[in-house]
Parts: sequence; structure tokens; C-alpha cells
Amino acid sequence: MRVAIIGAGIAGLACAQRLRDAGLGATLFDKSRGVGGRLATRRATLGGSEIAFDHGATHFTARSEGFTRLVAAWEKAGLVARWPAAGADSWVGTPTMTAPLKALAEDLDVGLSRPVTALTRSGNSWTLHSEAKRLGKFDAAVIAIPAEQAAPILSLHDFEMARAAMSVRYNPCWTAMFAFEDRIDALPDFLRGSGPIVTAVRDSAKPGRAPGERWVVQAGWSWSEARLTCDSASVAPSLLAELGKVAGRSLPPPIHCAANRWLFSQPSGQELKLLWNPAIGLGACGDWLYHGFAEYAWLSGHVLGAAIAAGARK
Ligand SMILES: Cc1cc2nc3c(=O)[nH]c(=O)nc-3n(C[C@H](O)[C@H](O)[C@H](O)COP(=O)(O)OP(=O)(O)OC[C@H]3O[C@@H](n4cnc5c(N)ncnc54)[C@H](O)[C@@H]3O)c2cc1C
Repeated sequence: MRVAIIGAGIAGLACAQRLRDAGLGATLFDKSRGVGGRLATRRATLGGSEIAFDHGATHFTARSEGFTRLVAAWEKAGLVARWPAAGADSWVGTPTMTAPLKALAEDLDVGLSRPVTALTRSGNSWTLHSEAKRLGKFDAAVIAIPAEQAAPILSLHDFEMARAAMSVRYNPCWTAMFAFEDRIDALPDFLRGSGPIVTAVRDSAKPGRAPGERWVVQAGWSWSEARLTCDSASVAPSLLAELGKVAGRSLPPPIHCAANRWLFSQPSGQELKLLWNPAIGLGACGDWLYHGFAEYAWLSGHVLGAAIAAGARK
């Protein structure tokens, strides 16, 4: 059985790994140049050196049995470390959030820079298309992308799945990234929920990071929503001013300043867990089926992979 997985975020990768463990072939396609999705790292050049920011998820938890086991293996391999600043059960990838996902992808068949634009069914097989190009024929297809992007693809083949996807709303999140010449002593390494700022993180304080003073500042949903059409050049200074308010003084001018608008940051969870139609071999996974956190996205992919594998054994 050959399974195509659209999306190589943590959910798609978890599904592929579960299928591979069951001896089934899975091929992932992602529109980006790298794997990991919203467990993301933004790179920039500063003074001739590369700097990096975890501008998506700042940290993740490991509470469920299967994910805890995987995270323990990642820890042994030096791919993650605990980061108590964000909470007692918080973990980060080392040296970046994408590091464990790149390791996960190493043994898998992944096609990058492959945006899937259509999925067609003929007889018992699925064909994936990227614009005019065909990406191959498969026995089953898994949609592992945010619900709002999954809905139009699902709607052509399974109305119930499409309806589930259409009922999910993602919240936007403006995220600013700053580097400063000197350490800002007035701020802790991690702070949550102060005015328009939902989370601010001294990114350079995470384990395994290069020295420096780098910050990731994430704005709340309503603040972000109200500024959806603004550009990053205006949003970054606003968030810098907000961070200054938290510090109790205006901050020095950053030596690097950028902002990213996440249109789909975290969804309102549904607790659906599994969307799989064995009659046509179509499934969906991702954080939108469970809760809007990395661990639950992994669980969603893992559970779907197990369901597909169980069906293939019959
Ligand atoms: C700003 C922000 C802060 C967050 N904070 C936290 C946190 O503190 N803790 C936590 O646990 N979680 C956090 N999250 C949520 C966490 O990042 C997500 O829950 C998790 O990464 C979702 O994984 P996923 O695989 O479901 O989706 P994604 O990571 O979105 O993966 C989907 C993949 O599909 C690809 N794709 C999309 N459309 C197509 C297409 N048509 N063709 C091919 N590829 C496609 C994308 O490029 C992407 O790689 C945060 C997210 C954001 C954005």
C-alpha cells in the first residue's frame, strides 16, 4: 500500500513514521523548502553571521505515553532539551525547534517545494497534482495541513470531512523577532500574557543556542486580527514598544528587527482525533483535530497512521 501525505509538519511526519513502522510506504509532499511546518525556524544574517529565531511554537510539552517515549529518544540524541523557563514540562528542539523534525524526516521519503494543488481520484487510486505536474499515484491520501487549507481539497471527495475542517477557525498571530547588542536585564527569559503580548521569549536563552540577545515576541489573537493588513515594518516597532512597557523602560534600538504574520497559528480544538474514510482511502490529521499544540498534532498523525496500518492488515 502506498500512502501520499500532504504536509510535512509534525502531524504528517508522525503519520508517515507510524506507517513506515508498520511496513507501509509513505511519501510526504510539502510546499516549503524544509520540514517542520509551524515548528519553525527563521534565519537571518547579522554582521556576516547567521542568526536564528524559533518564530513558530516556542516550546512543546510531552505528556502522552508515545510522544514521551519519542522525546526521550530525541533527548538521548541531543535533538531536544528541557527548558524549565517555559514550564516544568517544557521542551525545545536543539539547536532549533526544527532539529528533531529534520531527524524524523531523515528515514522518510519527503518531496520538498511541492505544493499540492489538487487531488484526483480515478478507479481505486489517488493522483496528486502540483500545478500542471503530476506527483504520482497512490492507494491512500492523507491531508496533514491546516483545516482552512484542507477543507477545499476534502470537499471534493468527502463532505463530512470537509465539514469538520470548515468548522475550525485558526487564530492569526503576529510574531516579531529582535536581536539586541546587549542583554536586557529587566526581562525574564519567558513571559506570558501581558497586554497585547501573549508570549515573549528570550530565544537566545534556550539550551544549545548561539550566544547573543535574541527575542521572539508573539502578539495576542485580537491584537493580530486588528492588524491583519498591516505590514511587518509597522508591526515590529509596535511590539518592541509593548515589550518596553513590560520591561518598564524603552528598549535600545534592535540590531535586527523583523516580523512574521501567521494567518493560521493555533486552532480552536475539536477533540475529533481521527478522520479516516477507509472506503476511499482518504484521511486527515493535524492539530485542528485535537488541540492546537505540537504534541497533539503528533498524536493526531500517529493515531491516523495506526488506523491506516490496521486497515491494511485486514
Ligand atoms: C506563533 C505560534 C505559536 C505556537 N506556540 C506553540 C507552543 O508554544 N506550544 C505548542 O505545542 N504549539 C505551539 N504552536 C502550535 C504548533 O506549532 C502546531 O500545533 C503544530 O506545529 C501543528 O503541526 P501540524 O503538522 O498539524 O501542522 P503544520 O505544522 O502547519 O504543518 C503543515 C505543513 O503542511 C504544509 N502545507 C500546507 N499546505 C500545503 C500544500 N497545499 N501542499 C503541500 N504542503 C502544504 C506546510 O508547509 C506545513 O509544513 C504554535 C504555533 C504558532 C504558529
